[in-house]
Amino acid sequence: MKGTVFVLSGPAGSGKSTVRQRLMDKGLNFHYSVSDTTRKPREGEVNGVDYTFITKKQFEEGIKNGVYYEHANYTGEYYGTPVSQLLPYIESGVNVILEIEVDGAMQVKAKDKNAVLVMLLPPSYRVLEERLRGRGTESEEKILRRLNRAKDEIRLFDRYDYFLLNEDGKIDECVKQLQMIAETQQYKTKNNPDFPSKFLGI
Ligand code: 5GP
Repeated sequence: MKGTVFVLSGPAGSGKSTVRQRLMDKGLNFHYSVSDTTRKPREGEVNGVDYTFITKKQFEEGIKNGVYYEHANYTGEYYGTPVSQLLPYIESGVNVILEIEVDGAMQVKAKDKNAVLVMLLPPSYRVLEERLRGRGTESEEKILRRLNRAKDEIRLFDRYDYFLLNEDGKIDECVKQLQMIAETQQYKTKNNPDFPSKFLGI
């Protein structure tokens, strides 16, 4: 059986990275797709682990050369999933988790009908605002751009298969729910097209 692509989206400040990291820590059959980006590394981010940090010129070359499975421009910077982070894993039966914004998620769904799209949200817009300001890593202008972007992203809610609410202090609940969603996929009839013939021994 091929691996499944799991897309985790949600506004900046929804807790995506923490949820994804905790899911990965459970040692399940997941590869985390490391994206390329043109934005500058934040403190503590490691090149090749959190992102592969490249220049705009390199990214644009990559687009021309078909390096990306999907890519998007998010608040003025490029972000993209290299094909090499996805297809070889799926082909060898490993699930891949992508932590990407909505435009990229739509591109993934258009290419792979079996991809599972999950939107992670904070409990309210107000909490989102508090979390973004609390991070203290971005300028006011960047925060406002991210908040506006969050509004646009939530408008695509119904294009996603599932949504999860990341309530303050209950992140492990979220991780558990995401794990359940992941585990359920193996029982989908559409993910097991060969089952009837195997069952019948033909
Ligand atoms: P940040 O700068 O906060 O790390 O990421 C900004 C946004 O870009 C987040 O919503 C993040 O999930 C998204 N993102 C990260 N990597 C990719 C990618 O490869 N493709 C797309 N489309 N979005 C990405």
